[in-house]
Amino acid sequence: MFEGLSEKLSGIFDALTRRGSLSEEDVNVALREVRRALLEADVALDVVRSFVDKVRSRAVGANVIKSVTPGQMVVKIVNDVLIETLGAEAEPINLDAAPPVAIMVIGLQGAGKTTTTAKIAKRLSERMKRKVLMASLDVKRPAAQEQLAVLGRQIGVETLPVIAGQTPVQIAVRAEQAARLQGFDVVLLDTAGRTHIDEALMQEMAEIKAASKPHEILLVADSLTGQDAVNLAKSFDGRVGITGIVLTRVDGDGRGGAALSMRAVTGKPIKLLGAGEKMDALEDFHPSRIANRILGMGDIVSLVEKAAESIDAEKAQRIADRMRKGKFDLEDLSEQLAQVEKIGGLGGIMGMLPGMAKIKDQLAAANLDDRIIKRQRAIISSMTRQERRNPDILKASRKKRIASGSGVKVEDVNKLLKQHRQMADMMKSLGGAKRGGGALGKMA
Ligand code: GDP
Ligand code: MG
Repeated sequence: MFEGLSEKLSGIFDALTRRGSLSEEDVNVALREVRRALLEADVALDVVRSFVDKVRSRAVGANVIKSVTPGQMVVKIVNDVLIETLGAEAEPINLDAAPPVAIMVIGLQGAGKTTTTAKIAKRLSERMKRKVLMASLDVKRPAAQEQLAVLGRQIGVETLPVIAGQTPVQIAVRAEQAARLQGFDVVLLDTAGRTHIDEALMQEMAEIKAASKPHEILLVADSLTGQDAVNLAKSFDGRVGITGIVLTRVDGDGRGGAALSMRAVTGKPIKLLGAGEKMDALEDFHPSRIANRILGMGDIVSLVEKAAESIDAEKAQRIADRMRKGKFDLEDLSEQLAQVEKIGGLGGIMGMLPGMAKIKDQLAAANLDDRIIKRQRAIISSMTRQERRNPDILKASRKKRIASGSGVKVEDVNKLLKQHRQMADMMKSLGGAKRGGGALGKMA
């Protein structure tokens, strides 16, 4: 999967990365080609549109970091938008419930449900050390229950003994009881499919769901069917409700459209990929790794990330230098607050320090949270440049204007100014001390 798309995209960006500078026309030409490549990969039209729009709006407004080329910036932006389109974060199977946790596996006939059920069972028992029971609810195909039992013996996972003549719902109920009595952590319910969606199938899935109250309902869909897989996911989600998707046959020569459109169209995460018939051929779905596989430009992406980091380091250094010289105006304060926000706010900083959990709670109780940082930055951004550089000129009428501009009370503006003054004074005295004179030095 993704080979064709990957090849096309890299051709487009190869041309860009070689350039010294980049015009809006260059971006537009590249985006036209990106659009064509995505459509050829069978990505849904709406998804292609919003993808291209996002890249364009970010590329046009972007500050190009010095030390990387504009073309490299565009690659990084495309990479970021790809990751967002794929769902940003990996979403593994969720077992966060009282055992036995039921996982229902649904989908069309031949999609790979039974195979996937066994693959998941193997992984949960081997990697996560869970005690797993599998049950086949497929009473349609004569050999279906036996197929799961064979796989179970092969991977060393128990299957629910078959009792002839039971309905899927009866089997589901029996599986739950067996799991409860015998202390299983997870029950995997492999269901029957049809060649296409019909009301009887949906009805059966809804009944099984009502009887077994699964914590996860995973739709297994064949990636080779492209947009059909996406439409299928939408219908199943609308009718039965799903919690995630497993895309199978990504080892085949599918064009990748299903993987790229799935999240955006259905709002549900792809959780796993089936990449072969073997029991180990199951992969986690990591948006950033998939983006790298599609774009194949991990080197450029990390280059731009490093450059962005060093810019932050430069900014911090500049503020430190100004502080040392005893200069610290409201622009510096705003810059500092922005840095605090970027690393995840006060909560983020506290969370990184061991033993800080308690203080974090106290901060929260004192209401000293990230909303305050946001508000303070809003106040500063409502000032003119002259005011930020020289807060002494802020008299009553200017404060009133700033307060209404940033939607706060004058008293909040005063609080901020007082805080800034204290910080600036402290820095001045520290800076003075460093130069050897200290507070006394200034008096002399
Ligand atoms: P079900 O009808 O949905 O239960 O589908 P099965 O699990 O019985 O699978 C149907 C066929 O697809 C079997 O031959 C599987 O070995 C094969 N299969 C399942 N998943 C994959 C996959 O990820 N890649 C490939 N190449 N074959 C798969
Ligand atoms: Mg099956």
